[in-house]
Amino acid sequence: MVNAQKLHDDWQKNYSDLPFEAYIKQDILRQGISFDSKSFINSDYKTKDYFIFSFDRVPLSEMKQSENLKAPEEIKISKGSHNLRETVISVRINPQSEYKISVNHENKMGVFYHDDFLAEAEFPPIPDYYKLKYDMPKPVGEIAPVIEWGYLIYLTVFRNCQYFGKDEECQYCDINHNWKQQKRAGRPYTGVKPVEYILEALSGIDKNDNTAKAYTITGGSIVTRLKDKNEVDFYLDYAREINKKFSGRWISKIVTEAFEKEDCQKFKDAGVDIYHPNYEIWDEELFKKVCPGKSRFIGRETWIRRILESAEVFGAKNVIPNFVGGVEMAKPYGFKTVDEAVSSTAEGLDFFMSRGISPRFTTWCPEPFTVLGNQEPPPIEYYMKLLREYKNIHAKYKLPIPPGYGPSGAGRAVFSVSAFMDILPEEI
Ligand code: SF4
Repeated sequence: MVNAQKLHDDWQKNYSDLPFEAYIKQDILRQGISFDSKSFINSDYKTKDYFIFSFDRVPLSEMKQSENLKAPEEIKISKGSHNLRETVISVRINPQSEYKISVNHENKMGVFYHDDFLAEAEFPPIPDYYKLKYDMPKPVGEIAPVIEWGYLIYLTVFRNCQYFGKDEECQYCDINHNWKQQKRAGRPYTGVKPVEYILEALSGIDKNDNTAKAYTITGGSIVTRLKDKNEVDFYLDYAREINKKFSGRWISKIVTEAFEKEDCQKFKDAGVDIYHPNYEIWDEELFKKVCPGKSRFIGRETWIRRILESAEVFGAKNVIPNFVGGVEMAKPYGFKTVDEAVSSTAEGLDFFMSRGISPRFTTWCPEPFTVLGNQEPPPIEYYMKLLREYKNIHAKYKLPIPPGYGPSGAGRAVFSVSAFMDILPEEI
């Protein structure tokens, strides 16, 4: 039997300046997780809503237990032989993962490393607003799903991206492919979500929920027009309508392309608090290869300039551009060693953090339909070294905890797709 103690030994020897919980979280995100039939006996939990991408390591067609319909959005692990603090982890289905959810001999649900019980596990509760009746003809979990253990309402208002095909799509992104497989499987995906549906769903949340503290407006890039609007106007409409009706009710965030300063100002004026113009990958040559659409239509230099200028509109701490942690090691053209990859990405972190802007990162999931999907992710060593750099550079510039992510610190963080909030200090 492979023993979970070996994980603890590796952590203790190499990464004990970071929480052990972050090690386990990153390794589960990196690999994905499987479920056995016992994990689905109780159905009173929130299942995966597929809020934007698939974030799975296998296509729906290979999910023998219909995991796409039964798996929880996230798991919260705790206790076990290493007495883990509560740690929220997004679910990425992978039947081949070394991690599995099952029940032990005491009938306790938990996460197993091979066959060794590692920690207890629970699934997220179904929010009360999911149980209401709505006039709109779509389930509320499709229109306004919640993630991060109820903290973040995720509004993917445009479920496709106009960067089409392998010469334009970001090479790790399955937004368009996931759309096709989910529609084929009968999920009630909505290509462009009518703003009335969004407002109706938010009314339900407003009246029945106190857990959600933020919402994100996002979707694919728009390079021509959509609903007769350009990209800025398309997304701006949602921000305006939501903030008109629910001004200040939640922290308002957008995840879009990098816009010019005057366009950023329109979002700020519409009530948006936090801006995520995701740069995805720092290295100049890799940016061209990994994000060919963004590179051709906007270009890296312009993208970076716009990020810096947007800080003059939103305030530096409210500009939080994402990068896809690990994709800089993707074969065939990525960095060959962990140290080269981490050093490149740390250079990007230093560039932004020295200017008061704290990026965040998600954990690259090699999704099967993507150009880069047919390979294994980087080793855990990469993620732990990246977290160490993140923590040290963040401390070097004495930056605040990034807003809009809920609490920071091990045992408190709810951001579920990387451990960056778990390794930061608790906010006093
Ligand atoms: S811009 Fe890139 S990451 Fe964003 S939706 Fe389009 S292909 Fe995906």
